[in-house]
Amino acid sequence: MKMQNAKLKTTYLKDYQLPDFAIHSIDLHVELNEDKTIVHSLLHVERRLPQQTTPLVLHGEGLKLLSLRLDEKPLAQTEYEQTLQSLTIKSVPHSFQLEIVTEILPQKNTSLSGLYRSGKLFCTQCEAEGFRRITYYLDRPDVMSLFTTTIVADKAKYPILLSNGNKIEAGELSENRHYVKWQDPFKKPSYLFALVAGDLVKISDNYQTQSGRNVALEIYVEAQNKDKTDYAMQALKHAMLWDEKAYGREYDLDVYMIVAVNDFNMGAMENKGLNIFNSKYVLASEKTATDVDFQNVEAVIGHEYFHNWTGNRITCRDWFQLSLKEGLTVFREQQFSASMGSPTVKRITDARIIRTRQFAEDAGPMAHPVRPESYIEINNFYTSTVYNKGAEVIRMLHTLFGQAGFRKGMDLYFERFDGQAVTIEDFVKALADANGTDLNQFFRWYNQAGTPLVNVKEAYDAKLKQFKLTLTQQCPKTPDNLSKEPFIMPIKVALYDEKGTKIALECKSNLHKTSEGSFLIVDKETNEFIFENVPIKPVPSLLGNFSAPVKLSYPYTEAELVLLMLSDEDLFNRWDASQRLGTKAIKSLMKDHLADKSLVVPTTLIEAYRELLQQDIPEPALLAQLITIPSFHYVAENLEIIEVDALITARKTLVEVFAQSLEEELAKVYQACQEQDDGSLKNTSMSHRALKNTCLYYLVKAGAKWLKLAQAQYEKARNMTDKMGALSAINHSTSTLRQTLFDDFYKTYQKEDLVVNKWLALQACADLPNVLENINKLLKHEGFDIANPNKVYSLINTFAMSNPERFHDDEGKGYEFIALRVIELNARNPQVAARLLEGLTQWKRLDATHSALMKNALIKIESSGDLSEDVFEIVTKSLK
Ligand SMILES: [Zn+2]
Repeated sequence: MKMQNAKLKTTYLKDYQLPDFAIHSIDLHVELNEDKTIVHSLLHVERRLPQQTTPLVLHGEGLKLLSLRLDEKPLAQTEYEQTLQSLTIKSVPHSFQLEIVTEILPQKNTSLSGLYRSGKLFCTQCEAEGFRRITYYLDRPDVMSLFTTTIVADKAKYPILLSNGNKIEAGELSENRHYVKWQDPFKKPSYLFALVAGDLVKISDNYQTQSGRNVALEIYVEAQNKDKTDYAMQALKHAMLWDEKAYGREYDLDVYMIVAVNDFNMGAMENKGLNIFNSKYVLASEKTATDVDFQNVEAVIGHEYFHNWTGNRITCRDWFQLSLKEGLTVFREQQFSASMGSPTVKRITDARIIRTRQFAEDAGPMAHPVRPESYIEINNFYTSTVYNKGAEVIRMLHTLFGQAGFRKGMDLYFERFDGQAVTIEDFVKALADANGTDLNQFFRWYNQAGTPLVNVKEAYDAKLKQFKLTLTQQCPKTPDNLSKEPFIMPIKVALYDEKGTKIALECKSNLHKTSEGSFLIVDKETNEFIFENVPIKPVPSLLGNFSAPVKLSYPYTEAELVLLMLSDEDLFNRWDASQRLGTKAIKSLMKDHLADKSLVVPTTLIEAYRELLQQDIPEPALLAQLITIPSFHYVAENLEIIEVDALITARKTLVEVFAQSLEEELAKVYQACQEQDDGSLKNTSMSHRALKNTCLYYLVKAGAKWLKLAQAQYEKARNMTDKMGALSAINHSTSTLRQTLFDDFYKTYQKEDLVVNKWLALQACADLPNVLENINKLLKHEGFDIANPNKVYSLINTFAMSNPERFHDDEGKGYEFIALRVIELNARNPQVAARLLEGLTQWKRLDATHSALMKNALIKIESSGDLSEDVFEIVTKSLK
């Protein structure tokens, strides 16, 4: 029916074949001009198997072929064939040189994949399949080649010309043009190629590696941002040191470059020696960035740096292995961030992503294993499952082998596969071999989709002083309809008596004791564990530190959860207990709402929170997490059917009663934090600010009299964290003060693009009746630009993902708004359009009214005309 969809083709892991050809080296010569760019490429190609006679098929997309020569002889048109996505040369010798000249139009490239313009810059994004939009090539990760890149451009407009590796030559040319030649001594796949040209300032530093080599560190930004790179530079040095200490890995080139780019689909890209970053994850000053922004900068800088070993030196054989580099690197990034700040709060943040986004993905139409079996558009598989669940899977290996065993496995992995493109099997086998074990059952985490549900039953025998736990696992059906075999998983366990004192564990079967605690090793559909010499019926603390990415249910009473929230030695599980308490209360209020009863929050719950607020908690930021009422999405993942209105009403009621009943305690804590906060970026100060701003949010909910406090904080704020804290607190208020502060904020920061994005995002998540009208106005505001992914995510995606009440509007206006934006962005930037769809994929789980409305929105997109592969795949799979 639709022309374009005829080309849509599913790629399967089982069809993988080694490439027929190797490309030993590629010499690129890129002539950048204002109207078009000319790319000369010289390839040294060799057939892998001499007896083969297959044609050479190169990838290419949107390219204009200007000339083609094989071993210096021009090819006649009959000797090759071009399609929209390939170039086939019918007959080639065993080993040969191929010269290709193409013309491309980066100025017109709105998809931000391949070579494109961001403001006055030229830059690239080649992962996953962007290089084929620059020149014809075997654009697949298992083709690794030596790259030499010469960039030619106007000297005044583009004084800085960057590519991967080391600079080996530079010079002047006629007509005010100049060139720079780069050579990367490491073989790499094309997705790691990068090029940047523009008028940028360089911030320099250096780092001495553990073996004594000197590495130049360079961050390139637009001139007006040169005072916002200190934090990123420090973070880079911390990351380099950390990787040497934790994994014995040091950097391998003479220079490490980072460029900040305003228009970027992803967070950042680990191109060899030349990382290209979304400016959001590089630029940060106390005037413009919040504490969370600083933490994100540190994490993303670390992440991309760690890829140099896990991703670049050892890369993926094919894109099904994406988690080989991403799951592992997210895990390394998590370890790094935990070492720099609060390990508990970091763990809570990571668990929250799994429990809201990843669990939702598993329960939706796009569910896939950490290593998918098939895809239509690989860009749709840069998912929470591949990244975040992938990291959880690595974490379980770390738990099972312990720090020393895990490190032994990683050392063997680096030793065996350095310089190669490998599979997840190769990785897992290295870990197994180093520890003298097999991981065949463990591998199910990589090829079975879905969230395992672990149901725990208890039985206490007072006479025998025995406590028995029976764990039963089950994994719900996913769209692939495959049956699931039991997973192996470590479940961290501790037992407490009624006073919150730990009981020593005596258990004969399968208890794995480590320095991090004791773990039940669950590996069958049903596992039983008997604990001896248990004096009284204990309260078990289960799945401590979120030891496995599963949903665990246990028949806790409210009193037991309060006990764990107030005294569990596993700090993560204190938070977990607080979320279980909140979820339980919201579910019970929902039931009352659906039965038309009045909603009453139990006083026992409020009293428990009161005690919590009066307790001495190890860190203020942890208390901030403990008093955070579970979000809409968090509770939704615990519901069979999401009764939208009931959930919103119940949650609001709990927040209001909490705020009003605990007003006095919250005010005291606010004051105490204010006194402890010296305004610096020290961990303790950030921790106090986190708690202070959480209290302020509730205080404004408690009554209008607290608006003055928010206003005072806004006016006296020493940093963006306090400014944003005050604005967030006031964001849902109908007071006229809200508009006054929002106007002032825009006036103050209108020249700071990243801060304007915060201003857009806050308005998008305001819980106010006219929010959609306001967003429609903002679409035309000078501070918004549909071509800029950060702005689209800030205004449009924030509305879909963080404003449940208005997104799930009873007449479907919220869904329709998103559908229209997807249609608008589909042709311009398919990756960004596809990302906006996330909120619309869950319609089967909603109550009948919302489900039908959301389905209509998807149908509207489906019937809107030619869809990109990105949007087509998600919409059709969702409607199936
Ligand atoms: Zn990554």
